[in-house]
Amino acid sequence: MKALVAIKRVADYNVKVRVKSDGTGVDIANVKMSMNPFDEIAVEEAVRLKEKGVLSEVVAVSCGVAQCQETLRTAMAIGADRAILVETDAELQPLAVAKILKALVDKEQPDLVFLGKQAIDDDCNQTGQMLAALLDWPQATFASKVEVADGHSTVTREVDGGLETVKLKLPAVVTSDLRLNEPRYVTLPNIMKAKKKPLENVKPDALGVDVTPRIKTLKVSEPPKRGAGVKVPDVATLVAKLKNEAKVI
Ligand code: AMP
Repeated sequence: MKALVAIKRVADYNVKVRVKSDGTGVDIANVKMSMNPFDEIAVEEAVRLKEKGVLSEVVAVSCGVAQCQETLRTAMAIGADRAILVETDAELQPLAVAKILKALVDKEQPDLVFLGKQAIDDDCNQTGQMLAALLDWPQATFASKVEVADGHSTVTREVDGGLETVKLKLPAVVTSDLRLNEPRYVTLPNIMKAKKKPLENVKPDALGVDVTPRIKTLKVSEPPKRGAGVKVPDVATLVAKLKNEAKVI
């Protein structure tokens, strides 16, 4: 069995991004970029399934600029067997990524596609769902446990009220939540080994996918600054303020 894992290169979660002065987006020039944390969890899960003998191959896929190769090398250092970069300088929205992934699924015929539940840059939480719809495959989003047996996957999902367990017939799409696993530390020998693993480069055109954006960003702005707090002399004043000013009790 084979798994495809979709990996996005995003501004590192430790970076405090700044909105561009013209409000057209955020400034990511000279900012540290890393693998989207949920995608790291997705790769780890696929690699663990391979180590358990459930999967025979793990293929990492990233869509975007040439530098996504570095992110794919990290995925291969975690344990992916090979990687595919769908290279484009164009702005990619979730529907375009889902269409690219669909074209690769048609070509690679995996049994499972793992994605992160959301990318921490656009926070869309759409690509996995769109991909499942385009493929007409079952999907389990927000996975916190994944088991695979007898042509099915049993997935525990994090939902508002607690945990939900669903059983999917393979092939299927699974998106990872934070508690699915703790990704391993990438070791130097594995980074060296990853340099020798195959990395294929294709263009969206070659896959027959039109990546033209469908959504126009009108404006990006900083969240409003929080006002300064006040010190209250006693509990009675606090309760009065919560009741009469904040009106929360
Ligand atoms: P989103 O719908 O943008 O929140 O992204 C959800 C997931 O889709 C991510 O965690 C990735 O697994 C995958 N994904 C989104 N954009 C890309 C991309 N450019 N290349 C590869 N995978 C992507």
